[in-house]
Amino acid sequence: MSTGLVRRGLSVALLALFALLAGACATSPTGRSQLLLVPPAVAIEASEAAYVDTVAQLREERQLLDDPLLAARVTETAGRVVAAAVTQYPETAGWDWSVALIDDPETVNAWCMAGGRMAIYSGIVYKLGLTDDELANVLGHEVSHAIANHTAERMSMALITELGLLAVAANNDDPETRLATEVAAMVAVTLPNSRAGESEADRMGIELAARAGYDPTAGASLWLKMEEEGGSNPLQFLSTHPSPDNRREALLELGAQVRPLMPAVPPEPYPIEVLTAN
Ligand SMILES: [Zn+2]
Repeated sequence: MSTGLVRRGLSVALLALFALLAGACATSPTGRSQLLLVPPAVAIEASEAAYVDTVAQLREERQLLDDPLLAARVTETAGRVVAAAVTQYPETAGWDWSVALIDDPETVNAWCMAGGRMAIYSGIVYKLGLTDDELANVLGHEVSHAIANHTAERMSMALITELGLLAVAANNDDPETRLATEVAAMVAVTLPNSRAGESEADRMGIELAARAGYDPTAGASLWLKMEEEGGSNPLQFLSTHPSPDNRREALLELGAQVRPLMPAVPPEPYPIEVLTAN
């Protein structure tokens, strides 16, 4: 084994040990135990910086979408899903909930960073021909990843595997650490979730969609569209959201279970920020 590898292995071991000592063992909303090397508060702060930079770059390169109709749909659907999320998880009321609409008709993707900062690529809406119910199920799934601290889990992975850094868990405030965590927040949205994380986000997301007044069985039709479109060309979304076994059957069953949670009157959309070309 080379010295570099040994050092890297030691760094990872030390980082894990530090995380354990720092009490980084957390429990996700569905009861799964997580080892969070990056504390959620650090993940949120780093994600804010990463998001601000990403949006500034998109704006400069004129890649934000000019599509008032879609902006209105997203304001309503994302707003209602966030309203349900804030009711179920009150600690997220202080998040800066926002959605950047990206003008990229070829890319089927959407993500949510720690702290509620989202992006929707125009390709996911138009290539898949998403209905509002399906869009709400996508968004419910994405915000669930953030609420369940999956972003912090993936940032931990990014820091270890991509950047090989130590001492990030220490709430270290020096500029290098801040930059590294910001980079990790960007890398995190390109890394695959675990299948356990996927099942968790499916379960939480479908419930949020139902509580927002959207048909939870649209989760299954959404994944059918993903599979059909992904059959001919690899989708960015499928690479970061690997399918657990029997996903569609599981979603259909979950959809039927949470359907009674649909309110007679849907919640008022939460005032989120929708970032477009204008
Ligand atoms: Zn996912």
